[in-house]
Amino acid sequence: ILTINHIKKDYGSLEVIKDISLTVGKGEVVVVVGPSGCGKSTLLRCINGLETIQGGEISLKGEIISGRQKDMHLVRQKIGMVFQSYDLFPHKNILDNITLGPVKAQHRKKEEAEEEAEKLLVRVGLLDKKDAYPRQLSGGQKQRVAIVRALCMHPEVMLFDEVTAALDPEMVREVLDVMLELAREGSTMIIVTHEMQFARAIADRIIFLDKGEVVEEGTPEEFFENPKTERARKFLNVFE
Ligand code: ATP
Ligand code: MG
Repeated sequence: ILTINHIKKDYGSLEVIKDISLTVGKGEVVVVVGPSGCGKSTLLRCINGLETIQGGEISLKGEIISGRQKDMHLVRQKIGMVFQSYDLFPHKNILDNITLGPVKAQHRKKEEAEEEAEKLLVRVGLLDKKDAYPRQLSGGQKQRVAIVRALCMHPEVMLFDEVTAALDPEMVREVLDVMLELAREGSTMIIVTHEMQFARAIADRIIFLDKGEVVEEGTPEEFFENPKTERARKFLNVFE
């Protein structure tokens, strides 16, 4: 469904993404791991058009989506992204936060969007918060709302960039559980995480990035049990 073909990205003289190719199938869950600064966030930002790339191309369902700045808003409707810092609108309640995109960007009926938002809130256990404001929610709750908000746009692919990194440990589980559930239901996802046990549990495939390159790619078993490269072994040692 998503094809990344020899993309490159640099900031001035700093080559952040050197030559990355990656294909993600429908319903596949790909987890990207690697040391800090290796380019994981940049890769996700390139995929949903927050960064322009200097080489290569990205296509979604056979259509090239990179280098098309003027209709990037259409691309972002098809590729949902959730970040480390849940950027909910502080002055809108939870229901409005979720339905704003479907109503404004996709011109869906407010009632229909709200009905779907409520169903999604039930699934993440937050229906009782629909009239609350973001400041009244815990970090884990806000992050679940951010996931629901992205889902309500019916994206083809969901990108997650360290969505639990800013959470207190007791809130991490509730967010990871929502992601596991999405994976089970067949969502197509690319996940950046430092939670190795979670990576192992959720991934169909692990991509190990280092210095802007894919150094290893394999099943969770291959990567965690039997890393092929010294670089991956060193990286994994930190987590033992
Ligand atoms: P982390 O695990 O710490 O989140 P990461 O793998 O997500 O790291 P990136 O955020 O993709 O890393 O950054 C990759 C490199 O690109 C880093 O060296 C970073 O300093 C650099 N970089 C990122 N954004 C910019 C920017 N806007 N301008 C210049 N350099 C940048
Ligand atoms: Mg990052």
